[in-house]
Amino acid sequence: MSDDLDELYQQVILDHCKTPRNFRVLEGANRKGEGYNPLCGDNYTVFMKMDGDVVKDITFQGSGCCISKASASLLTDSVKGKSKSEVKELFKKVHDMMTTGHVDDEGVGKLAVFAGVHKFPARVKCAILSWHAAVAAVDGQDGPVSTENESN
Ligand code: ZN
Repeated sequence: MSDDLDELYQQVILDHCKTPRNFRVLEGANRKGEGYNPLCGDNYTVFMKMDGDVVKDITFQGSGCCISKASASLLTDSVKGKSKSEVKELFKKVHDMMTTGHVDDEGVGKLAVFAGVHKFPARVKCAILSWHAAVAAVDGQDGPVSTENESN
């Protein structure tokens, strides 16, 4: 089991887990998305400053496992400067990659480090959590999202 996890916890993931980027509350944020993964206890808030359709700035706060934190960190790096439709397109590619292991070289860039999670279904929920929160934020939805089930 730990061998498999070693494979999963690659260097990039560990780096972003230990030193998450954009890990703060965003002053002047006009969008917010919350994600909670009850299976693992991951709980994050994604803050966005959107100018029209474009994500001008994005940060996150919260706590959870290494995979969820590294994923949120890489998400903020990847989503900044993108339009709403680009964020949703990237989400689809990332979701596809995390669930099937198929990497779209054109689109996902360094997010490819998460391709390995498809072998660990419980970890997919950790890795995709912040993406659900980010999509909720660009859509301007209120209320928390969960990787378990949607409720309101
Ligand atoms: Zn987790």
